[in-house]
Amino acid sequence: MSQSFTITVLPGDGIGPEVIEQAVNVMKVVEELEGVSFSFEYARLGGCAIDEDGTPLPQDTLEKARRSDAVLLGAVGGPKWDNNPAHLRPETGLLGIRKELGLYANLRPAFMLDCMVGVSALREEVVQGVDLMVIRELTGGLYFGEKRRYETENGEVASDELIYHEYEIERIVRRAFEVARLRSKKLTSVDKANVLESSRLWRKVVDRIAPEYPDVELRHQLVDSCAMELIRWPKQFDTVVTENMFGDILSDEASMLTGSIGMLPSASLADGNFGLYEPVHGSAPDIAGKGIANPTATILSAAMMLRYSFGLEKAANAIEQAVHNVLNSGVRTGDIASNKEEAVGTKEMADKIIAAM
Ligand code: ATP
Ligand code: MG
Repeated sequence: MSQSFTITVLPGDGIGPEVIEQAVNVMKVVEELEGVSFSFEYARLGGCAIDEDGTPLPQDTLEKARRSDAVLLGAVGGPKWDNNPAHLRPETGLLGIRKELGLYANLRPAFMLDCMVGVSALREEVVQGVDLMVIRELTGGLYFGEKRRYETENGEVASDELIYHEYEIERIVRRAFEVARLRSKKLTSVDKANVLESSRLWRKVVDRIAPEYPDVELRHQLVDSCAMELIRWPKQFDTVVTENMFGDILSDEASMLTGSIGMLPSASLADGNFGLYEPVHGSAPDIAGKGIANPTATILSAAMMLRYSFGLEKAANAIEQAVHNVLNSGVRTGDIASNKEEAVGTKEMADKIIAAM
């Protein structure tokens, strides 16, 4: 019997539905080529859910996601909902689904294809050949600690608590060693152990686990040093693992090395094989509905799903190779084209990728 997987599809807002449609088309080609079968279950998240269901994260969406093997998400948000109270904001739905599904490991690759070096703002010799992966802890640390505001004689005070439990560090660090093993076996653990107690625990846990992965070369680095080195000489990095806030900042910094946000995928993984896959970019309201959004980031997110949730490494490689070939042949959407007049639209880009597969 052939393998079959259920995928919850959350198109979301803005360009989300446009890029998702094309990623699903690519997945349908994978079905034919690999002899696997996918069933796609659509649901709402974000602004569209606020409008239809009165909440950014409907119960039905959560239930469908829990029943499925993986989630494919477009993007959420837009100016229409920007001034809503917190419980009616699209981003609240996104944070909620990550937390509810236990997606603690966020994988953000940043890679530079030879044919794309011109798109980066950095010097060619610096960015050519960059191929790194930032792994960010996604459900702990500063963003989830207790928040307080109070008045004193000297004015208002605010605090955010930064807590990490040993088990939270351990599971993300193990994930990182596993990922490093699939890549070039070099792992950089980033912290601020000269100042933060949570970072000293982080480092202790990393050092305890490291002997279990003797084939992976480990280095500790302070976050300020890492931020500088990422710009100075990014090719020294392969896999980078760090806590929530440092990872938020470093993964955005790393993505800008490539200068093409429309190309970068991401994965957010839970224990086991379950994961949520989405492009790094947002809903891009400025170009929504025009059919010109770059679908590559979402298509590459689908490839990550095949690799990390379904173990279909060969199919993942086939998609990635097809994307490389299409870009190498000079096909460009508007966001990465030097000659805007020759740019292709969302559907045409995806069709080229499908043809290359
Ligand atoms: P968010 O807050 O959701 O991250 P944002 O406004 O910070 O949203 P994006 O929605 O990613 O960021 O848009 C940033 C810029 O990049 C916009 O000008 C948008 O048009 C462009 N952009 C983003 N994604 C794509 C894409 N897939 N194809 C083409 N252009 C894109
Ligand atoms: Mg943004």
